Amino acid sequence: TDLAHIRNFAIVAHIDHGKSTLADRLIQSTNTVSERDMKAQLLDSMDIERERGITIKANTVRIDYVAKDGEHYVLNLIDTPGHVDFAYEVSRSMRAVEGSLLVVDASQGVEAQTLANVYTAIEADHEIVPVLNKVDLPAAEPERVAEQIEDVIGIDASDACLISAKTGVGIPDVLEAIVKRLPPPHSGDRNAPLKAMLVDSWYDSYLGVVVLVRIMDGVLKKGDNIKMMQTGAKYGVDRIGVFRPAMQPVDELGPGEIGFLTGSIKQVRDTKVGDTITHEKKGCEKPLPGFKPSVPVVFCGLFPVDSAEFEDLRDAIEKLALNDASFSFEMETSAALGFGFRCGFLGLLHLEVIRDRIEREYDIDLITTAPSVIYHIFMKDGTKVELHNPADMPDLSKVDHLEEPRIKATILVPDEYLGDVLKLCQDRRGIQEDLTYAGSRAMVVYDLPLNEVVFDFYDRLKSVTKGYASFDYQMTGYREDHLVKMQILVNDEPVDALSTMVHRDRAEMRGRAMCEKLKDLIPRHMFKIPIQAAIGGKVIARETLSALRKDVTAKCYGGDATRKKKLLEKQKAGKKKMRQFGKVEIPQEAFISALKMD
Ligand code: GDP
Ligand code: MG
Repeated sequence: TDLAHIRNFAIVAHIDHGKSTLADRLIQSTNTVSERDMKAQLLDSMDIERERGITIKANTVRIDYVAKDGEHYVLNLIDTPGHVDFAYEVSRSMRAVEGSLLVVDASQGVEAQTLANVYTAIEADHEIVPVLNKVDLPAAEPERVAEQIEDVIGIDASDACLISAKTGVGIPDVLEAIVKRLPPPHSGDRNAPLKAMLVDSWYDSYLGVVVLVRIMDGVLKKGDNIKMMQTGAKYGVDRIGVFRPAMQPVDELGPGEIGFLTGSIKQVRDTKVGDTITHEKKGCEKPLPGFKPSVPVVFCGLFPVDSAEFEDLRDAIEKLALNDASFSFEMETSAALGFGFRCGFLGLLHLEVIRDRIEREYDIDLITTAPSVIYHIFMKDGTKVELHNPADMPDLSKVDHLEEPRIKATILVPDEYLGDVLKLCQDRRGIQEDLTYAGSRAMVVYDLPLNEVVFDFYDRLKSVTKGYASFDYQMTGYREDHLVKMQILVNDEPVDALSTMVHRDRAEMRGRAMCEKLKDLIPRHMFKIPIQAAIGGKVIARETLSALRKDVTAKCYGGDATRKKKLLEKQKAGKKKMRQFGKVEIPQEAFISALKMD
């Protein structure tokens, strides 16, 4: 296809505003797949995605479209991930296309992720077509939302497409707008050396590693020998093809085209999003600009509840890591929890997704330790250490100072909840940077420590705003602060998995809260159990769990034996989810619940 007849685009939207539904409609109305194969939500493939209504892996589809002017076009839609954790992947896939459809729910208006995603599109120099979705809803106010797009985002929304992705109204206009208002690929020379962008990659159980590529210059053919310019790795290409959305082999991929390749690539980790692919011989000279490998920012320990399942856990983690280059892990031993893994994630959602998959797909009960960010520790001897795990905090006498990562958080919230949101941000050591209004919604920008956000900030935000706030963040850098390691001692034994880094001024409050929580979470034993929070050997909070006096089965005296047996069985089942610490048993959920602040 010549460049003039190619349109490459992404759909940007806040979660639930209808990105997937619109993508399905575009595929369906152009007869890209037969009605029979048209499954609901074609582009969301994983179970967790569907349940949570999010798209995690970018997907792509090639659509043939005959425009009203009679010309045949090839439209390549890239479906980008819709969550802050995957910001880098989003920005990469944006560089692989020239335009975006900006989908906004006409009954909701602009939300935090609308802004975050549209700014990424603007940064990638996209032409943007606003699309107001869900006009079938009685609550839809397309005029007001169009105005809001102009006010808040600053792009012209006077000729936005008014559509209902659900009923199909307005879909032909969207297709025409893609062809008429989005630009074709800006350049592309068939005769130049191959230059292709690695947009995404994933593991397919039949084909192995599948790599999504956008060809900038040159031609990619089956059998070619290719080289990844940033990692230096070399591979032979077995297959190339396009997505419709099922895989379809093609003979070649030329400039402006988007498709896939498979070859001798062993694991997804060997393919870095944003890398430049060229031919091993007569390759291009300069790679595409802006490559940076995505790095984990949130760390936590994953331990099997049943220590006999350690090998199964290793197996599960290794399998998941094959398919996820941004997930890191190394073995960890905890005095309290035994053998497990210290894992790194792009963010909290990423952590949750991996943890869920291990529990569900591999059927392993997990103890998750407190999520932690990476601290920079400046030692008195002038060296700098990266701390991924509070348990590894060096001796304070050797530490000069400590820096923690900060983020810029953007929150959009209806007026009436603004006060609660400000209080929440303030409580989390936030510094307000901006407060503006867009209609009846306030937009607040806060500078926050990431460590205050990784745990339950998002849950708290949702609960104080009844779900009406939307949230997005980006990392901004490191700053010095007075952070200390707080230990928890149960029956005078430090439980390393409960160690956390806290701000000095908040340590007492957090320590007290954790001890109170643990007092409720740990079942009573035959003896008295002190629960203490301490900083460097100094106890700052204390609770005492009183001893259990009676035999639990005592109240069944005179009762029937089956009831007694049931009770004992229940106790045994409950035990499986407990871990032994010295003489004390601590339930699995205590490790996370103890840290929740409310
Ligand atoms: P995504 O998160 O942006 O991919 O959103 P989805 O496409 O998954 O849509 C979110 C929800 O909105 C789903 O329940 C859809 O059925 C619904 N939805 C999408 N488009 C429309 C529309 O035009 N009208 C109505 N009433 N509902 C829609
Ligand atoms: Mg979706």
